[in-house]
Amino acid sequence: MIVQANRILPTPPILQPVETDLLETTGGAAMVWCGRAATALYWAYRIVQSGDTEAAQSEVILPAISCATPANVALLAGLTPRFADVDLETGMISLRNVQARWTPRTRAVVVIHLFGQTVNLRPLADWCRSKGIVLIEDIAQALDAHFPDGRSVGSAGDVSVYSFNESKILECGGGALLLRSNDLGRRLEHVLRSYSLPPETDPDMSALLAKSYRNLHHALVALFRLRADTGVSNFFLRVRATYEGLFLRSMKDPAALAQAWQGLRASVERRYRKAEIYAGKLAGGPWQLLNAWRKSGVCWRYSLLVDFNDPLASFSESVRHDGFHVSNLYWPVNQFFYPSDACPNADTFARRIMNLWVDDTVDLDWVRRCGECLWKRADRFKQN
Ligand SMILES: *Cc1c(COP(=O)(O)O)cnc(C)c1O
Repeated sequence: MIVQANRILPTPPILQPVETDLLETTGGAAMVWCGRAATALYWAYRIVQSGDTEAAQSEVILPAISCATPANVALLAGLTPRFADVDLETGMISLRNVQARWTPRTRAVVVIHLFGQTVNLRPLADWCRSKGIVLIEDIAQALDAHFPDGRSVGSAGDVSVYSFNESKILECGGGALLLRSNDLGRRLEHVLRSYSLPPETDPDMSALLAKSYRNLHHALVALFRLRADTGVSNFFLRVRATYEGLFLRSMKDPAALAQAWQGLRASVERRYRKAEIYAGKLAGGPWQLLNAWRKSGVCWRYSLLVDFNDPLASFSESVRHDGFHVSNLYWPVNQFFYPSDACPNADTFARRIMNLWVDDTVDLDWVRRCGECLWKRADRFKQN
């Protein structure tokens, strides 16, 4: 189905092949198409709360390494976001870290396949089922990836959210929610009838607001890096509601996704080829290379954990100075939303992680030169 102008409609015929593909590879029961992963998360959170008499105090556990969107949308949907620490090797949550954050009010857990990496989710999925907790897979960075046992991402969660927006693996626009059972489908239909989407902000205004949101996030991450104090969180929590109009959106152009879908495999392979070049170029340097993309088959951003003690941000600045975009945009989101959920591993990870580009804005030669630049800058940097 697709939700447009507050109405639930059948999936447009042009999207049917994509829907069939996803349902077959994941074993899902139904799909709902929308404009953003953020919107799909909103519905997932509403499903979680449906039938919950104490919904106001319900909590969702999120990974401390993430963009701010999953937590922002949780607040919009009336859930309290809590944060699980991550493994130092991957930046992803594990069963143990989630259990440490469990309370009797926990209703859902979100797993993010960070940078395209996957880990075995069986133990977490079994535990969630035993506790009656909804497991949400966020596939925004891992479209077409598979788990270590070969099954497709989206096959472990009760629900899964997809993004086809800017910077993701397909950038044609749109998002989706995949539901594992027909019962969840019935709960969503009930939710959609009870909460109609607010009118959408007009596209020009949305684009400006989205830009302001990105700039704010970047500025606050830079500030957190320099001065880790809770005043930043208080400020952020005061202004965050200004951006809520951005999160709920319907799909504008189903035909664009149907078209882009045919190029998915080739696009994932082009990324993989670039990741292999980085891996060859960067082997043996003063950093630890994240390798899970080899097994998952998908590299969203090539990622490494830098070993220097000096601030990572100055190293990145020096690489950017040579004309290569690298990013350090991940900061423990618990520090924005819930600073008392201490996540020491996430803190260490965020101070070391560096992301390199593998998308179609860069070619193979650029990737080689970027790898060389990192070596050159690392040498100079260590001398200082
Ligand atoms: C980009 C991203 C989102 C949001 O996707 P939209 O389609 O822009 O709403 C959610 N979760 C993760 C992990 C992301 O990387």
